[in-house]
Amino acid sequence: MKYVLVSGGVISGIGKGVIASSTGLLLKTLGLKVTAIKIDPYLNCGTFSRSSRAGGPIDICCAHPVDAGTMGPLEHGECYVLDDGGEADLDLGNYERYLDVTLSRENNITTGKVYSSVIDKERRGDYLGKTVQVIPHITDAIQDWVQRIAKIPVDETGEEPDVCIIELGGTVGDIESMSFVEAMRQFQFRVGAENFALIHVSLVPLIHGEQKTKPTQAAIRDLRGAGLTPDLIACRCEQPLERSVTQKISMFCHVGQEQVLGVHDVSSLYHVPLLLKEQGLVSFLQKRLNLASVSVGKQAI
Ligand code: ADP
Repeated sequence: MKYVLVSGGVISGIGKGVIASSTGLLLKTLGLKVTAIKIDPYLNCGTFSRSSRAGGPIDICCAHPVDAGTMGPLEHGECYVLDDGGEADLDLGNYERYLDVTLSRENNITTGKVYSSVIDKERRGDYLGKTVQVIPHITDAIQDWVQRIAKIPVDETGEEPDVCIIELGGTVGDIESMSFVEAMRQFQFRVGAENFALIHVSLVPLIHGEQKTKPTQAAIRDLRGAGLTPDLIACRCEQPLERSVTQKISMFCHVGQEQVLGVHDVSSLYHVPLLLKEQGLVSFLQKRLNLASVSVGKQAI
């Protein structure tokens, strides 16, 4: 199993979901089976179907009646209802449409879900009286959850996916996402560097007609400070990224120029996969994750 983590810096709402979905779609064109997990670092659980809230059986980890379905649509957008009744973030809808897969409520991990599952385990005595802590118990629970869900078939073939795209909501550096960032830092060693790639989405604002790189430099510093190394830096910008700006980000962020991708505003979000492909995202990930070995015997679309 190969994992591609998509994280974000500078601000939220920067286009991580679209870049994560587009990356998954491009990997699908290699004939790979792709699944997706969305991590939302908020306390809402999103574990209940409507029927369970209406008094039906409680089937998932959490005993508290809160979920993404209770979040105000003005603040968060409409909640997306999955096939199993799970109420989740809109990004899950993006994944289903881009990747042509059917996801379950467990493909959406929230802080609330993880804490609830750890607290439930603690109450059952699973930790044998040990002190239960963020590290290692919460971080282990996150990693176990990702590995378990990544293996679940999501398309009509019923086969295990080859690649799992993990989108980390929020911004690296936020208090809310710290346990997830730490879990992902550990995860790269758990699964091996050759099976884990990181795309960090950053913002290159246009100030008085000039594309500014400083926010991206700071975002990458934060990311590296948390122990994560970007394989690709996807720069969201209004206009196409200038060559000199790519060079500057490459130099100041300690990555090759081919690792800096420009993702400017486009009229249709379905252009984003093409934009990424033109800049070599597929060939980079193929080499970085040794995808040829995974796609052997699979027919490219
Ligand atoms: P995040 O996952 O970081 O919160 P999203 O992927 O949900 O961000 O995108 C936030 C908003 O920006 C969405 O409304 C999306 O349609 C828009 N968006 C993302 N990428 C682009 C792009 N390249 N061009 C134009 N709009 C975009």
